Amino acid sequence: MKLPRKLHIKSYGCQMNVYDAQRMVDTLGPHGFVDTASPDEADLVILNTCHIREKASEKVYSELGRLRVMKAEAARQGRRMNIAVAGCVAQAEGSEIIHRAPVVDVVVGPQSYHHLPELLARAEKDGHALETEFPAEDKFAFLPPPKPDVIRSRGISSFVTIQEGCDKFCTFCVVPYTRGAEVSRPVAKIVDDVKRLADHGVREITLIGQNVNAYHGEGLDGRTWPLGTLLQHLAGIPGIIRLRYSTSHPCDVDETLIEAHRDIPAVMPFVHLPVQSGSDRILAAMNRKHTTGDYRRAIDRFRAVGQHIAFSSDFIVGFPGETEEDFRATLALVTQIGYAGAYSFKYSPRPGTPAAEMREIVSAEEMDERLARLQELIDSQQSAFNKASIGTIVDVLFERAARNPGQIVGRTAYLQPAHVMAPEAIIGQVLPVRIESLERYSLLGELAAPLPTLAAAPGTQPVINPSDTRMGA
Ligand code: SAM
Ligand code: SF4
Repeated sequence: MKLPRKLHIKSYGCQMNVYDAQRMVDTLGPHGFVDTASPDEADLVILNTCHIREKASEKVYSELGRLRVMKAEAARQGRRMNIAVAGCVAQAEGSEIIHRAPVVDVVVGPQSYHHLPELLARAEKDGHALETEFPAEDKFAFLPPPKPDVIRSRGISSFVTIQEGCDKFCTFCVVPYTRGAEVSRPVAKIVDDVKRLADHGVREITLIGQNVNAYHGEGLDGRTWPLGTLLQHLAGIPGIIRLRYSTSHPCDVDETLIEAHRDIPAVMPFVHLPVQSGSDRILAAMNRKHTTGDYRRAIDRFRAVGQHIAFSSDFIVGFPGETEEDFRATLALVTQIGYAGAYSFKYSPRPGTPAAEMREIVSAEEMDERLARLQELIDSQQSAFNKASIGTIVDVLFERAARNPGQIVGRTAYLQPAHVMAPEAIIGQVLPVRIESLERYSLLGELAAPLPTLAAAPGTQPVINPSDTRMGA
């Protein structure tokens, strides 16, 4: 019998890459590949790359340097190690990758990884294989669904891609070039995916897309459904307890989404809504298509239906032309909104984007200094948000055994990790937890319902209603 071939995937960047990596495993599984955690014993190593900032893409080349040594060692042992570069660096740099790192056998863009088995066969025959076209067919139609035991091994929370690409063309961003035009998957396909996941133990779904709230897929009635209508339908699938979505654009917050937050308890009250800057002048230069006023109004619409809704965001500091005054406007916006957390980045010029041609560069020292000030403010808001949980009872969806023996870890509605001492039987259930203390970013507490109640509630559907005793930031 042929031995299984070993596959190691290293993923960089966003949640979409995490999801894509799982689908690559699902694609290669039927071709005899099994996952390994050690790249040095792998027959195929895939770097699933990110091009969003320069640092992210450069990491790929240093990793390829390490893989070159491993590949040579494998050859000495009489073994062929294939190396594939997938994801957005593959899309953006194409054959340049093979010139710069001839150790690479396959280069495959994010829309073509369903062709990985053929590309590998071609590389073994011809030396190299490259595919970075945007194929006419929908890759999702060709991806085999994950097997039940694979779904179970991935835990009770899962990503599902519902939308890919972006038509917004922010001047700093490579996504419209690397992921292509915005495309929404039909509702029927998403429902099939979610039902299959729910049937095999998944309880929380995060719908993902580069611009997820621009979703406009073909609905079950043949009409175009927006994200809010999709959420409403998915909430009715037996077994699904929690729904999340990421990443949203402020211009695409429509009434159906607001209503979903108002009407559907499964839709979690935590919204990631990137704004990038608090200066209208910079937002215009970024081609964000919204002002700070539009952004505040979007936040107010969410808060009008649920004061407990909390927000996170993305910020870029040091965009070309950003003055101290612009930057202070960002700090003022953060202070005004009050976030539960946020990501902040130094501006990184990306080849081929309009902002890369802009000349009013902010110095590296100024960027460092601004990033530190912004992060200090965001950290203080996040700490205050987390501390506000102490002494309250919050709902936690339990995910897995924690590192400490006897402890189980789960997440609150706001994605805060929460630890309790409890039996593993609680995994997959939402239970109320009395929060007693905070350790860095983790909440520690105890179950607020006696265990016999748990035993009386077999299965995975929660019996406890959301007990939002905590307020948003
Ligand atoms: N579609 C989402 C939106 O519009 O907010 C964001 C997608 S992008 C993958 C994630 C984040 O990376 C962005 O929100 C932005 O803050 C950051 N980012 C994108 N391009 C960047 C660049 N050239 N330099 C620094 N940060 C960047
Ligand atoms: Fe990039 Fe998001 Fe702007 Fe699209 S909306 S170009 S993904 S930052």
